[in-house]
Formats: sequence, C-alpha cells, structure tokens
Amino acid sequence: MAYTYAEFSNGELYSNSGPVCPHCKHEHSPDEAFYFDESTAEMECEACAKTFAVSIYTSTSWTTSPKEPAHD
Ligand SMILES: [Zn+2]
Repeated sequence: MAYTYAEFSNGELYSNSGPVCPHCKHEHSPDEAFYFDESTAEMECEACAKTFAVSIYTSTSWTTSPKEPAHD
C-alpha cells in the first residue's frame, strides 16, 4: 500500500490526500464535509480507534487566461 504522507521532525504527519493517524499510519479518505472545515479538531482513527488532533488546511488557487475577442 502506497502512503502519501510526510513525517516532520516534530512528529507531525502531513498529507494532502487525507488525515493520517499518528498511531497506526492509517490514512482516512476525506469524504465528509468535516475534513474540509478549516480548523483544528480531534478525531478518532477509524482503524485503531485512538484519538488524535488534526489541523485542516485548505488552499485556494486561481487560473486566468486572456479572453480574446472573436476574430470572425
Ligand atoms: Zn490509527
């Protein structure tokens, strides 16, 4: 199974595909609105049932392109 998280030197686990349990390294699928409510929360691991703190970050980006006038 491929994991996508990175472990910081302070022990925090970072992932941009879902919160990773710091106890058993289980990665949760962010399939509920809870996972996108930008805040710090506590959740229970669905695999080992231990609780851990999760900080949720969302990012916003924009792309633009010139809207050319029609040439016909
Ligand atoms: Zn766990």
